[in-house]
Amino acid sequence: MSEIICPTCHGRGGDVEIECTNCGGTGYDPNEDNPFAQCHSCYGEGTVEVDTCPRCGGEGKIEQDDEGDDDDGEEESQD
Ligand SMILES: [Zn+2]
Ligand SMILES: [Zn+2]
Repeated sequence: MSEIICPTCHGRGGDVEIECTNCGGTGYDPNEDNPFAQCHSCYGEGTVEVDTCPRCGGEGKIEQDDEGDDDDGEEESQD
């Protein structure tokens, strides 16, 4: 394991744009009947700005396996 700069916020820990969790980055609201309804979370942008980076929890850095694996599998490395 080694610590790397968080690739989501680039070490800032927050004020970062992430993919909208409501629409998954499409900009269209999946909960609306109309398939082209604008997402109300990101207003069709597909990204939202958050105060605290969800990836690193505001730390600005994350632990990474030296294997180089990224996003899949469990993430249970909380202290
Ligand atoms: Zn981060
Ligand atoms: Zn959205």
